[in-house]
Amino acid sequence: MDLFKEILEGNKVAVAKGITLLESSLETDNILAQNLISNCLPHSGNSIRIGITGVPGVGKSTFIETFGKLLTSNGHKVAVLAIDPTSEKTQGSILGDKSRMHQLSVDENAFIRPSPSSGTLGGIASKTKDSIVLCETAGFDIILIETVGVGQSETTVSNICDFFLLLMLAGAGDELQGIKRGIMELADILVITKADGDNMQKSAIAKQEYQRALHLFPVMENGWTPKVAFCSSLENTGITEIWDTIKNYNSQMTSSNWKSENRKRQNIYWLHHTIKEELGNKKYNALLSERKLEILENQLTKGKTIYRILEKL
Ligand code: GDP
Repeated sequence: MDLFKEILEGNKVAVAKGITLLESSLETDNILAQNLISNCLPHSGNSIRIGITGVPGVGKSTFIETFGKLLTSNGHKVAVLAIDPTSEKTQGSILGDKSRMHQLSVDENAFIRPSPSSGTLGGIASKTKDSIVLCETAGFDIILIETVGVGQSETTVSNICDFFLLLMLAGAGDELQGIKRGIMELADILVITKADGDNMQKSAIAKQEYQRALHLFPVMENGWTPKVAFCSSLENTGITEIWDTIKNYNSQMTSSNWKSENRKRQNIYWLHHTIKEELGNKKYNALLSERKLEILENQLTKGKTIYRILEKL
């Protein structure tokens, strides 16, 4: 059967095959991948895209396991996609690794895909953006995009998410040390992990400190006030509250139209990014000065894919 139809029927093997096509560097695969994306695009979009970031060891995979199980037990279909621009150096993906999410990886309503192991951050993120389209076409309504906090990646990843969740450790001393302000400003929620056992008190103090720090930040453009929470993924505490916050955010941003406007803005960001990456700055600047970019943006808003637009340039 045709790959698109299989994806549309929710076949996870077909989704995995589709993502492999997207990641392939073979010209023949590229053509198939572009056709696939064009077919899937009208069936995509019906999801909450949640970015999850934090330093290695903060508890990302343990959190995703517990959080993902909560979601599937509530009837959701969860896709976990990873973006790890460092994986090339570490010889293979360290994120989205199935062996780290034992229960979720055998859950029939979950799909886990590790990070592509090569490419630039922008290139990987752009492919992940297309992978999201395939997952949504297959009926996955919650997309978790896992990334390591390495400075640059958060900004890029926030351009493919609706909601951004930053995991933090409660440390001794200055709680804000090591966390760049820019990253915190992107977060819709800061979650202090491992709030259990001896760590409980430290977590409560860290929560207060982060709350105070966030007060000093400018109000977000969409009117959302970033939240601070703590949880224990091992003891399964605080996880439901985090989900409630995300649901609340999603309904507010859907009714204010921010969610769809933001997705449009993100698509335009990727259009510009891809033109620069694929065709170079010279071509980009020429399009800019000839005022052609607006025409292309228009085509994008009408549902044309970035690939199809680039074909004609
Ligand atoms: P990642 O590198 O961010 O994906 O972090 P992991 O999920 O692999 O967790 C790193 C370590 O922290 C592991 O040893 C986990 O067992 C531990 N860990 C993760 N979540 C919790 C938690 O909620 N409580 C405690 N006490 N330990 C945790």
